[in-house]
Amino acid sequence: MTLTESALAALIARAFERHGMSAPNAGLVAAVVAAAERDGAASHGLLRLDGYIATLRSGWVDGRAVPVVTQPAPSILAVNAANGFAQVALAAVRDQATATARSQGLAAVCVSDSHHFAALWPDIEPFAEQGLIALTMVNARGRIVVWGGKRKVLGTNPMAFACPRSDGPPVVWDQASSLRAQGEVLKARVEGRSVPEGIGLDAAGAPTTDPAAILDGGALLPFGGHKGAGIAFMVEVLAAALTGGRFGFQDDSPSFPGAQTSRAGQFLLLIDPARGPGGDVPGRIAALVGVLREAGAQRMPGDERHHRRALALRDGIAIPAAIHAKLLALAGE
Ligand code: NDP
Repeated sequence: MTLTESALAALIARAFERHGMSAPNAGLVAAVVAAAERDGAASHGLLRLDGYIATLRSGWVDGRAVPVVTQPAPSILAVNAANGFAQVALAAVRDQATATARSQGLAAVCVSDSHHFAALWPDIEPFAEQGLIALTMVNARGRIVVWGGKRKVLGTNPMAFACPRSDGPPVVWDQASSLRAQGEVLKARVEGRSVPEGIGLDAAGAPTTDPAAILDGGALLPFGGHKGAGIAFMVEVLAAALTGGRFGFQDDSPSFPGAQTSRAGQFLLLIDPARGPGGDVPGRIAALVGVLREAGAQRMPGDERHHRRALALRDGIAIPAAIHAKLLALAGE
């Protein structure tokens, strides 16, 4: 089956609504799943559908949550996501955060009590398209062991960065603090593949390339050894300690069989480069990217997604027939 992005998003939204989400919330979360499929970010596209539905069915997340936004300081915005999805909380604060970044030069958004089950780039790309620099971080359930520890305390704690450039779409990178995102390990298990060495440990703490051994009681490892561990720690501090969100080790999702999301927090920093001392920052970033390309950098972060996006916008998004049939069934059609 080949669908347009809007048709796919609408179908996913109907499936979410049928499983307990309000229509506006379903639309916001479905949009990021469809965008991931559009851009070929398969680990956070339809692969996650079962996880969303199981989590909604478990009662662990509130699909009808209405976030509450406050502004405790001139440049700090707080969003209580009310146990709902992070994309809903971000949508609630988007305009105020943009206005604050424009007036104050920067805005720090602290989201608490939220569930993030998607890629992070859709959260920040739109800000950079409006000329802002954006940095975001999400903490997650304890999944990695760090600094020689024996237990999983920190999550795969992703962070993403987006900046505008004058001669093209924003440069956006988006990466987990683990050497591989859990979604990639999940994908390998679904496809019956082993994962490369150095990614994870089994339940006994021994290195393994078996995705099932990592996912069922094992652990992931941070990228770059102790340096990635430092990043994962920083994400936990900014996304949980600072925001008031739960730490990854405070996870109590096992009390909700089927729950697959982390009930945690998200930090978002917006900077208006026009208010800083750098002059024409988008122009300077374009020049920097030009030098990197001249120096042989063949792929900038985001290049692959934009290439796949262009193909999807031209040809539509190809969905395996079995997945399409499952979507229709979930949507009751
Ligand atoms: P990858 O290692 O696949 O990619 C990380 C970044 O590097 C991307 O921006 C990617 O760009 C870029 N990149 C990859 N390969 C190259 C290359 N050869 N040259 C230049 N740039 C490159 O990501 P991860 O596996 O670490 O994370 C995957 C996803 O998982 C992320 O979207 C992350 O947000 C998500 N995640 C979500 C969590 C959650 O709780 N919601 C938890 C953990 C992860 P490009 O986009 O173009 O591929």
